[in-house]
Formats: sequence, C-alpha cells, structure tokens
Amino acid sequence: MSALDITDLTRVYKNAGGEEVQALGGVSLQVPRGEVHGLLGPNGAGKTTLCKIISTVLLPTTGRVSVLGHDVVTDTKRAKSSLGIVFGGDKGAYDRLSARQNLSFWAGVYGLSGSRRRRRVDELLDRVGLATRADDKVGGFSRGMKQRLHLARGLVADPGVLILDEPTVGMDPVAARDFRALVGELRSNGTTILLTTHDMAEAAALSDRVSLIDQGRMILTESPRTIGDLVSTYERVDARDVPEPIRQRIEGLPGVVAVTRTGDGVLRTETETPRATLAVQRILVEAEIREVARSRPSLEEVYLHLVGRRGMSVER
Ligand code: ADP
Repeated sequence: MSALDITDLTRVYKNAGGEEVQALGGVSLQVPRGEVHGLLGPNGAGKTTLCKIISTVLLPTTGRVSVLGHDVVTDTKRAKSSLGIVFGGDKGAYDRLSARQNLSFWAGVYGLSGSRRRRRVDELLDRVGLATRADDKVGGFSRGMKQRLHLARGLVADPGVLILDEPTVGMDPVAARDFRALVGELRSNGTTILLTTHDMAEAAALSDRVSLIDQGRMILTESPRTIGDLVSTYERVDARDVPEPIRQRIEGLPGVVAVTRTGDGVLRTETETPRATLAVQRILVEAEIREVARSRPSLEEVYLHLVGRRGMSVER
C-alpha cells in the first residue's frame, strides 16, 4: 500500500465571474512509504489545490485520494489523523506565547494531556532544535525558527505522512539550509513527505523522486538526478543588436529550440545541447557581437520545453 495514492484527480473552481477554472486535470501519483516526494511547479500549477485535497480541507471534483489507505472523502477522520501539514510563511503561531506554550496548545488540540503532553512537547522541541529557546516568546523568533516550530506542530500527532507546502519560502539561505537538514533527518526516521516547492534546487536536495506539475497536469515523475540532467542540457544565450541575417543563421542551427527578440533589443536563443550553445556563441563572436550572456533557463522555461517535448513524443 502506498502512503499517498492519488488517482485521476480533478478539481474545478468557479471564479468570481462564474467561469470554471480547472486547477487539476486528472492527476495520478503514488508515493510509497518512507519516500520524500518533491512536487515542483510554477505558480498556478495546482500544487496548493492538490495539498488542500490531500489534507481534507478541499473536496475533489472527481478522482480519489487516500492517505495510508484512508480515503480523504469517505474516511476523512482517519485520513486527517494520518497527516501533518506545514505551510510556508510565518503565520499560525502565537507571538505572545513561548515555543513550549504554543506546542503544548497544539498537543492539547490533538488530545494529548498531562505528562504525555509534556514529554511529547519536550521531545519535539529537541527534535527541531528549539530546546534552548523553548521558553522564549515566539514573537522574537527569526523566520527560520518559526518555521521549525511549525514543523514541530506538524509532527505533534506523529503522522505517517507529512505535507510541507513551500516550507522555506521567505527564509534566508542559512535558515533554509538548516531547515532542509532537519527534513533530511525526518526522512531517515521513515516519515513519508510530500514537499511542494517552486525551487528546483530544494526539490533536488531533499527528494527521492520529483514530480513536475504544470497547468494542473503531471508532466513527469523522475529522480532528481534525471531531472537535473534534463535541465542542465538547456541553456540560453542573450545577445544585443543582432542583425537579421545572423538571427536566421542561428535559428537554422540544430539544437536551437527557440529564438526570440525581447522588447529591449535582446535576441534570446534557447538551446538544448551544450554543442548548440557553443555553435550559437561562435556565430555571434564571428559577427563581432560583443554583448553576449549565457545563462540557465528558469524553471518555467524548462517546463515549456518539457511540455512541448511530451506533446511531440509519447515515449520518453
Ligand atoms: P499553485 O499552488 O501551484 O500556485 P493553485 O493550486 O493555487 O496553484 O492554483 C491552481 C489554479 O487554480 C490557478 O489557475 C488558480 O488561479 C486557480 N485557483 C486556485 N484557487 C482558486 C479559487 N479559490 N477560485 C478560483 N480559482 C482558483
């Protein structure tokens, strides 16, 4: 049995004008127990919708989701109690209370009391590295510390499945790194984790497998390594003041995926092999164009390529 089993899930919203917006268009995903699964996608891809359905706060339009075998619609209570959820940002903790008081409150909500509650709170504070600050007011905490507290909250009920929705959003790089290390520790304890992020590096660092989602559809599910390899072959070359005949030559090169002119006089060439990148640069140098910059494409651009490719070939 999978920890998370998602089958043909769709979700349609009605927007303010009464029009229908399809946020999820038939998503299927199986996450085995103990896996850290990264869900990667640009804004509007459907990540939050998917997390909300899994966490039983939103009903699916069609399709099925079960958490450790419990259907989120027909067996909501058990599905819910198998889950911990941690959202990004720093909302949700009471600033005037200490870390210990906050956790103790949440532990109470989950039905723990007396010495069990105290023990659980101590254990969690220790686990997320807040033991030495346990009695300080949360209002004085950094973003990273608040997020560790949120993680502790997500773990209060000792859930088999943990959902982390953009957990490092707004954190400084050091705090984000610490937080990722912490997630790495959880993974070694066997917790199944679904991590949503728009940060490719974060997904790659933490996940056993990564799914790319775009416009409500799963594009692919692979190991981060495979996705990293895919991404690293794409590059772009920006150059200024490129005459039309040169542009045409570049466009005709094998391995050039797209050539576009931006509003401010920059010609952007996207390539899918290092060899094509070199060929483009060579032509630009020969034409004595000096302002040439090479960079990696954004995740959104990679998506476009992947969606395009998938559209063209059935097998991958
Ligand atoms: P993500 O979390 O990947 O940014 P979301 O799940 O929030 O994506 O959104 C997916 C799509 O559904 C988007 O097109 C978004 O505009 C739309 N959407 C999300 N929530 C609502 C809502 N309450 N009403 C109407 N449309 C919504």
